[in-house]
Amino acid sequence: MSFRFSARSRRRMKGVHPALVEVMEEAIRRSPVDFMITEGLRSPERQAVLVRAGASRTSKSRHLTGHAVDVAALIDGKVRWDWPLYPRIALAVKAAAHERGVPIVWGGDWPTLRDGPHFELDRRVFP
Ligand SMILES: [Zn+2]
Repeated sequence: MSFRFSARSRRRMKGVHPALVEVMEEAIRRSPVDFMITEGLRSPERQAVLVRAGASRTSKSRHLTGHAVDVAALIDGKVRWDWPLYPRIALAVKAAAHERGVPIVWGGDWPTLRDGPHFELDRRVFP
């Protein structure tokens, strides 16, 4: 079974770096778990709101430059936040990224403040 992005997910990737969009488009085709894009490019105003709410720690988020996307797992079209779904999505994203030679960092691999929904282009290659 192969999933595909909704028009809404595609709209949310507007302004996101094309290399990351390509990786996510390939990832949705090979992921065993359906997912949607919840956020891509983020305005400084929205980032400030997220930092104030405690949802983000940094004013230098990769979302501000279109180098990051957040996803939400979908089961039968409904959003699920169960942790085990996210490593499965991440495997598909990593495989797609590897195939394209695009280095990706998954927030779920961070040792502190693990962020399962978050994927970004590696700063060392995409500053
Ligand atoms: Zn994020």
